[in-house]
Amino acid sequence: MSREELVVQQARKAFQSGRSKSLDFRIEQLKNLQHFISEKQKDITDALQKDLCKSENGTLLYEILGLEGEINLALSKLAEWAAPRPVDKNLLTIFDEVYIRPEPLGVVLIIGAWNYPIAVTLQPLVGAIAAGNAAVIKPSEVSIHTAKVLELLNMYLDPEMYHVVTGGVPETQELLRQRFDHIFYTGNSTVGKLVMEAAARHLTPVTLELGGKSPCYVDKGCDLRIACRRITWGKYLNCGQTCIAPDYILCEPSIQDKVVEEIRKCIQEFYTNDPKSFTDYGRIINQRHFKRIMELIKGSTVAIGGEQDESQCYIAPTVLKDVTPESKVMQEEIFGPVLPIVPINGLNEAIQFINEREKPLAIYIFSSNKKVIKKMMMETSSGALLANDCLVHYSISDLPFGGVGNSGTGCYHGKYTFDRLSHLRSCLIKNLNMERLNLIRYPPHTAEKLRW
Ligand code: NAD
Repeated sequence: MSREELVVQQARKAFQSGRSKSLDFRIEQLKNLQHFISEKQKDITDALQKDLCKSENGTLLYEILGLEGEINLALSKLAEWAAPRPVDKNLLTIFDEVYIRPEPLGVVLIIGAWNYPIAVTLQPLVGAIAAGNAAVIKPSEVSIHTAKVLELLNMYLDPEMYHVVTGGVPETQELLRQRFDHIFYTGNSTVGKLVMEAAARHLTPVTLELGGKSPCYVDKGCDLRIACRRITWGKYLNCGQTCIAPDYILCEPSIQDKVVEEIRKCIQEFYTNDPKSFTDYGRIINQRHFKRIMELIKGSTVAIGGEQDESQCYIAPTVLKDVTPESKVMQEEIFGPVLPIVPINGLNEAIQFINEREKPLAIYIFSSNKKVIKKMMMETSSGALLANDCLVHYSISDLPFGGVGNSGTGCYHGKYTFDRLSHLRSCLIKNLNMERLNLIRYPPHTAEKLRW
């Protein structure tokens, strides 16, 4: 029996013990998760420094804060989320108890990605615990130091109910051969398809948190100084390795140079003239991705940056101008600090450009005209749409976070994670009295009964 098979068996046995059905148990585990985060904070920030060159404060801000918020929310709302949810009744069921009862699914597999390896691995776990499931957690092997820290979870959580399995692709594939009650995967769309295929063999439902190219339309009339500040932040955070980073800009040719200049100023303000030596500027995760991104730049006109150092996986904050839709950089998600500007002629063309491609995880639009924003909203589809900002929807637990089509299936955060990892069981409790009320449905279906 493989290690993975054994782990799933143990998790299932623990789930079948029934102890995760108790809300007290779930609360205790969520508090243990809180302890893990506070006691191992230094290990977490050190690991992310090694994996992605993230600064300590950057990790606190973009990985820990949101996670802690999600745990606190689950702790404060658990009783409400888990309680039966009464629904409207009809005439035939007017005297019955009719409600939805959220129930745990069983054993959930959580497969994490490497770019925010704490947040994307542990936020689904918060919902899995809150919903009363057992879980097998597979951190990304690419962020190797963080994966090691995540192994320490075994010291905090019920070791039979929750398991961390480290390893690479073979280990993930072996896990995917097992039977789960839900698979929650974060990563690229190619592997997302493999996950869905493997899940289909057991009819296991999946949540796929994927990526893609999130467009950013900059309207001619908007305040370019503010717009470019927010875009620069969203793009170069974590060295561009953010699933919802604006992937490329669409704007009219007449404002392209102004956009470039405003972004140049912001890069200097945020990362100094020497981003390479600056603490808040990250690195590409590994040489494979470094080479991939450098390859994407080839053939395009570099307006800002372009400097690189392979030995450090460093790529300067880069802007490409006059990029054509056919260029390499427009064929796949960039996932690096490279921002192409594709000149287009106005809003209608931008909408057409977006609609000719896969549905993105996010669409960003910068405009001071509400009609322009509404038109973009009404005529496109994406996981999320933000006007005049980037990324911040991620921080709102009441907004479902997820993609549509090629950018993912299902959503999470806050109550959405709880519901996603619960079975919403329909319950109807009738008593055996008042049989007269039921006569209409029993044959023979006479006209007399219908008149009644
Ligand atoms: P990755 O390479 O770490 O892969 C993710 C997981 O898939 C890992 O645990 C890995 O073991 C497993 N895996 C990789 N190849 C596999 C295979 N052949 N068979 C089975 N399992 C396999 O991460 P990544 O895919 O490079 O992550 C980056 C992508 O994730 C980007 O597209 C990004 O947009 C997306 N992402 C999405 C979100 C979101 O919330 N929507 C968040 C972060 C990242």
